[in-house]
Amino acid sequence: MDSRSAQPVAPRPAVDSDIAFIGGGFRTTTFLSSAPALLGHRVRVYERGAGVGPGGFARYGITTTSIGSRFLKHLDLSGPFAPLARSSAVMDVARAEQPVAMSRLADALTVLGETLRTALGADGTRLDSTVVAVHADRERDLVDVRLADGSTETCRHAVLATGRAERPHPELASWRAKVVLSGTVIGTAHRSQVKDRLLAAGGRPVVVAGASHSAMSALQILLELLAELRAEHPGVPLPLVQVVRRGPGRLVHDSADLARRDQVPGRERPFDAVRDVCPATGIVYRDSGLRHQSRALYCALWAGELPGAHLVDAPVLADASDRFDEAAFVVQALGYHGQAPDLYLDGVLARPGDSPDRLLADDDGALLVSGTAHPLLSVLRVEPTPLDRRDNTAYASDLYRRLAVRLSRSAAPVTEVGA
Ligand SMILES: Cc1cc2nc3c(=O)[nH]c(=O)nc-3n(C[C@H](O)[C@H](O)[C@H](O)COP(=O)(O)OP(=O)(O)OC[C@H]3O[C@@H](n4cnc5c(N)ncnc54)[C@H](O)[C@@H]3O)c2cc1C
Repeated sequence: MDSRSAQPVAPRPAVDSDIAFIGGGFRTTTFLSSAPALLGHRVRVYERGAGVGPGGFARYGITTTSIGSRFLKHLDLSGPFAPLARSSAVMDVARAEQPVAMSRLADALTVLGETLRTALGADGTRLDSTVVAVHADRERDLVDVRLADGSTETCRHAVLATGRAERPHPELASWRAKVVLSGTVIGTAHRSQVKDRLLAAGGRPVVVAGASHSAMSALQILLELLAELRAEHPGVPLPLVQVVRRGPGRLVHDSADLARRDQVPGRERPFDAVRDVCPATGIVYRDSGLRHQSRALYCALWAGELPGAHLVDAPVLADASDRFDEAAFVVQALGYHGQAPDLYLDGVLARPGDSPDRLLADDDGALLVSGTAHPLLSVLRVEPTPLDRRDNTAYASDLYRRLAVRLSRSAAPVTEVGA
């Protein structure tokens, strides 16, 4: 007899799920619909909102930066997702070669999310469930998920897919009382309040701090609202918008030769053939991450051709302090930060939810703790693309496939004991 068969097999404790997804927004939905085979494991999605699918995209009244098809490029129309091939909401976005209204994207993700919920079964989703802490315990080989209602559920592996948020920026601390986050300006829920503030501003300017996609989206909404106000209240003084940028904006060159030739000396960092050419697509980046509508708006602003708005250079925001002092209000568009519940590793609080540290992950999504991949926790693109990878469209392009492999290994079927 094989001596190994005489050894008692250590029972593995019962768990509520094999793989828990914390957050049921865009990432969780598109990831799980790219890997239908994972649904053979017990998957549970914890979502603090009332539905799975659109996440943050449900809140914004703007057009996407990326073309529609990019959002659903991983969709696998097999198994439970096969019926989606007949959904016009989904397929219109999946085939769109242009940016789409975020409301259309949100509708497509809602349909996708509903299909996912059906596939996961009655126990597969916990809606209106905020996760406050995640405890990974390597000795038990388990992860506890703590919920805001005081309950705890257990899984073999947890994936953090909680999205990102804007945090009050320290450089704007002196003007905190009049700072509005760009997400508020862009969000459909606050449109009328923002319009009221523009009307109340009288002749005082409004300052947008930042010149990224969020800043251009906020600028666009402000200009739309100002146009509405001009028509509704002729003769009433309305604010100018000043966009304070900390560095040169970045656009795209048609070729490396043109990049060398068309460079604006003193305004842009010098072209670098290694850093500025995407290895996957050959796109030659000029000093920018802007695309489509935001890029057009930025170009017009930069050229001084945008009525009612102009650009102000301030390498550090304090350089524009007189503008902030004078402003009726300040729109903060200075980037996003990954949000996550408190993370405990082997009983120690390793990362509180309000930590300034970025939530780093390996190329297969493994949470990196001091540079080492954690076996029980993964991260699904929670942080924005790191600054040093922004000009590389290959960044994270293989993440979904590699994470699916990693998760199917971690959640390998086991015999339940004591269920
Ligand atoms: C204005 C704007 C425009 C953008 N445009 C683009 C674009 O064009 N292209 C692009 O690729 N990206 C764009 N982004 C980035 C975009 O946010 C992400 O690509 C996408 O939303 C990320 O998906 P996610 O699943 O990580 O986050 P979300 O879709 O926000 O999902 C996170 C989910 O987690 C839930 N959650 C959070 N915390 C908890 C918790 N503790 N417990 C339980 N549930 C929780 C939330 O309720 C939410 O449903 C844009 C972002 C903004 C703000």
